[in-house]
Amino acid sequence: GQRVTVVGAGLAGCECALQLARRGVGVRLYEQRPTHASPAHHTAGFAELVCSNSLKSTKPDVAAGLLKRELDRMGSELLGCARQASVPAGGALAVDRAAFSRLVGERVEASPLIEVVRKEVTRLPEGPSVIAAGPLCSEALFDAVSAVLGGSRMSFFDAAAPIVDADSIDREVAFSQSRYEEQSTGDYLNCPLNRDEYDAFVDALVSAERVLARDFEQSDLFCACQPVEEVARTGHDSLRFGALKPVGLTDPRTGRRPWAAVQLRAENEARTAYNLVGFQTNLTWPEQRRVFRMIAGLGQADFLRYGVMHRNSFVDAPRALDRTFAVPGTSTRLAGQITGTEGYVEAIASGLLAALNTYAALSGQAPVDLPRTGALGSLVAYATDPQTVDYQPMHVNFGLFAPLADPPRNKAEKRHALAERARADFDAYLAARPDLFGDAGSREA
Ligand code: FAD
Repeated sequence: GQRVTVVGAGLAGCECALQLARRGVGVRLYEQRPTHASPAHHTAGFAELVCSNSLKSTKPDVAAGLLKRELDRMGSELLGCARQASVPAGGALAVDRAAFSRLVGERVEASPLIEVVRKEVTRLPEGPSVIAAGPLCSEALFDAVSAVLGGSRMSFFDAAAPIVDADSIDREVAFSQSRYEEQSTGDYLNCPLNRDEYDAFVDALVSAERVLARDFEQSDLFCACQPVEEVARTGHDSLRFGALKPVGLTDPRTGRRPWAAVQLRAENEARTAYNLVGFQTNLTWPEQRRVFRMIAGLGQADFLRYGVMHRNSFVDAPRALDRTFAVPGTSTRLAGQITGTEGYVEAIASGLLAALNTYAALSGQAPVDLPRTGALGSLVAYATDPQTVDYQPMHVNFGLFAPLADPPRNKAEKRHALAERARADFDAYLAARPDLFGDAGSREA
């Protein structure tokens, strides 16, 4: 049979390669690391998570939870690896990133149908292929993609949060507690700030020195990933009502709710490192050290990794690609964040979808057409509908779902109704496509 070229052994590329192999299709998987570095990757490993270690909510009635259910039903390989590598994180799925990468690598390398080639791809491959080169796609390849698509290349900036060494956190001050929970699970630490500390911190934050990229523009920022100093700049109390909100927390030292609190989330099962939740930043590294050490409990913090800002590249998918994310008139598909979908689990889902559509095309079957009432189906519809204007990177969210005919007024009831419909429609679609999903459609959820 024909061999498929997959470019990029990230989240989308590894899922895609494994899914093709599972269907008996041979894959040549290209990865540029370690010979060619990216500004955010730190290892040569497969499916490296570049920032947070959280794969978001697992709750059944939220969009991120529904997306996971859909991936489970379609037999996602990487979601399985994530569960195996999971660390406790309340109602979310968080992973030990090193263990996750290792598990994915083991599966890829164990497959006799996947050949891994460590090399930068600089041109569009010949024949059936999937480009899953991510938001930090190498310059040469992105130029090649842009040239074929003809359209203007699109890109934006976003920012990553710093990580501190657990041993350097002052446990006399930082306390372990999840919001509204009496009993601490230890997944989160909180650094309480009183009013004076908060005021001083915000003042220092907004006046600190930033790394300003030459072509940096405010409008380039993806608003769900605003640097903490930009949020602070929008108003003195913005952080106190955002990432630093103290709601549901009680400082054991005072028995009261703090004025504000910085949340730290465990990076790994051993809890040797914590990231500052919501602290994506564009401050220079010395300034991060100075300003973030003003946070109570972080006075002596050792920074294992500083926050950074990067250009992210993606194409104008609604206009540039067809409904299967293929470059029109070719057998090359795009997958992952380069298509403009945003998020780890979204990238995994996109890789799975690219495998299914490539397999369907090779075997003469109809492309995948997921219901628009579901998590992945609504994201695909958003990303491939030529009517979508001002295309911006997007996570799955209920705002993308086809509206309910008769929505309940109560928010929780509305979410529940959307989720129920999503599950029923998705399962019905799976059951109707045994050619792609085998017996997954008839299996119990
Ligand atoms: P990647 O996982 O980046 O995989 C692409 C792979 O392709 C890489 O291994 C790369 O080395 C390789 N490659 C690139 N060019 C070539 C080439 N020419 N030839 C061969 N190989 C190539 N999402 C979240 O859900 N939570 C977060 O906290 C989060 N933080 C982010 C922080 C930053 C700085 C960035 C840039 C993105 C972040 N994202 C986050 C968004 C997104 O979920 C991740 O970027 C995700 O890894 C995208 O998956 P992917 O498979 O599309 O790309």
